Amino acid sequence: MIRKIEHIGIAVKDIEASNLLFEKLFGKPHYKVEAVDSEAVKTSFFQIGETKIELLEASAETSAIAKFVNKKGEGIHHIAYDVDDILQEMERLRQEGFELLNDVPKKGADNKLVCFLHPKSTNGVLVELCQEIDTKKL
Ligand code: ZN
Repeated sequence: MIRKIEHIGIAVKDIEASNLLFEKLFGKPHYKVEAVDSEAVKTSFFQIGETKIELLEASAETSAIAKFVNKKGEGIHHIAYDVDDILQEMERLRQEGFELLNDVPKKGADNKLVCFLHPKSTNGVLVELCQEIDTKKL
């Protein structure tokens, strides 16, 4: 079951500069910085009520974030939904005809198992499913 928007991912060119910008916007600093080597990204997170804002900067030109920024510029990159059982949701969405970008959940930032849906099957918006690791044994 999809429970809520867990976070919104925003692609940025310079995460240090954007951390300062968003700190001014929200009136509070980010609470965490994390490099996700498998995705070649640097991330930072701001907590806004129940939801988070994730800033993403490419750490290599091969990164999906580098390709996104080169093609579309900075901006909203994905919307992440919190799910209670990622395997069950992946199977349900596969059966509904959505195109999943990974066959098995992978380890994402912020202690999550994640799976992405191809934006061409979701009206152009990249969707991330995420499940907190350890809330449920996989
Ligand atoms: Zn994300």
